[in-house]
Amino acid sequence: MAAIYDYGPYGVELANNIKQLWWKDLVYQYDNIVGLDSAIFMHPKVWQASGHIANFSDPLVECRHCHSRLRADELLAQIGVEADETMPEDTINKIFDDYRHLIFCPDCGQQDFTAVRRFNLLIQSNLGDFIGSRSEPVYLRGETCQGIYVNYKNIMDSTRLQLPFGIAQIGKAFRNEITARQFIFRTREFEQMELQYFIRPTEDFEEFNKWKERRWNYYIHNLGINPDNLRWHEHEKLAFYAKAAFDIEYKFPFGFQEIEGIHARGDYDLKQHQKFSDVKLDYYDPVADETFIPHIVEASSGVGRVFLMLLAEAYYEENLPDGSKRIVLRLKPAVAPIKIAVFPLLRNRPELVVKAKTIFDQLKLQWRCEFDDNGNIGKRYRRQDEIGTPYSITVDFDTLDKNLVTVRDRDSMKQESINVDELIAYLSSKLN
Ligand code: ATP
Repeated sequence: MAAIYDYGPYGVELANNIKQLWWKDLVYQYDNIVGLDSAIFMHPKVWQASGHIANFSDPLVECRHCHSRLRADELLAQIGVEADETMPEDTINKIFDDYRHLIFCPDCGQQDFTAVRRFNLLIQSNLGDFIGSRSEPVYLRGETCQGIYVNYKNIMDSTRLQLPFGIAQIGKAFRNEITARQFIFRTREFEQMELQYFIRPTEDFEEFNKWKERRWNYYIHNLGINPDNLRWHEHEKLAFYAKAAFDIEYKFPFGFQEIEGIHARGDYDLKQHQKFSDVKLDYYDPVADETFIPHIVEASSGVGRVFLMLLAEAYYEENLPDGSKRIVLRLKPAVAPIKIAVFPLLRNRPELVVKAKTIFDQLKLQWRCEFDDNGNIGKRYRRQDEIGTPYSITVDFDTLDKNLVTVRDRDSMKQESINVDELIAYLSSKLN
């Protein structure tokens, strides 16, 4: 059961924020982008049309000594030899054989590997197959975008959208990943956020460049990523149908790795689905008085990878002037799991607790808040720093006497007295 993870109470808040921000940035911001939630199970023909049954495979080798299963292209990359994960079996075997004397098993250090064989990453299910008689298996979807392609015509017909337009979807995808030892970076069950943008054939490069720029800026401005930690990776070997393919990579503690792919896919996907479904997927363009199959630019990212990037980016261990240390997650407020923590100074003074609860109950209508009356105030601040809560509010005797609370800023640790009547306006200006 490697490479399967659960997200706990704070994790699910962070993941939900990642998804909501993405959704708002695309579906709410652009009038010509709509959302979709297609099913995880699709007709097996979809995966034939997409090429996944024939080609969605990685080159697998097994260590004969410890039986670790490893990706041949990754082992070769570690010794500086470039091998494409899409290479045919005999080509990658030849390269692997030329270098096998230099390759050691990362798990046991031995040099005894099997031949390389291609291993299909689709995960099969027995959905609806009660007596085991079906010749063609049903798969759990290996990517969410195929659900977009097969719904493209329904959406166009029912919404009257005209080119260019986009369909956005967030949902689970499943892959039998061979290398499953990179925490939530590479999991066998994961969530994708995919935009498929349908365009005229003449618009490939213009739209591709637009989406490249928008997606790059999104990470910097919306998620607060330092641009020095991002870079572009251009695919050198393009699929035969692709016009261009770039990945945005983030500098993880284990090196630069892909978080999002932006690809100009031409008309390949819709043509394939038209062929396999016998349903016309072309588009009549009233402006040019032409009929054609739209081209597609896609922007595809993973919730788990963005999650890990945000943790890596935001995690700081700081030495404080008083000699103590603190761990702080400097998350942008928009992604922070908890936006505001509310503390009564003393838990054994009912008048403070009641007042703090009243403030908490008001704030929680607008923001995800946490109430904490456990331990001294310093400890409570540290707990909130560690989960990235931008503001903590302490209710003390000044609250009872002068209607003032102390608002403490996570990053500067500065404390400000704010009148309770102005608290919502103050927090709105900081958080929204
Ligand atoms: P990689 O080369 O790292 O395996 P990929 O090129 O196969 O990734 P795509 O098929 O383009 O990835 O999927 C789009 C996005 O989905 C990726 O940029 C990544 O953020 C996410 N993703 C893909 N596979 C996984 C996985 N196994 N676990 C978590 N996220 C994934």
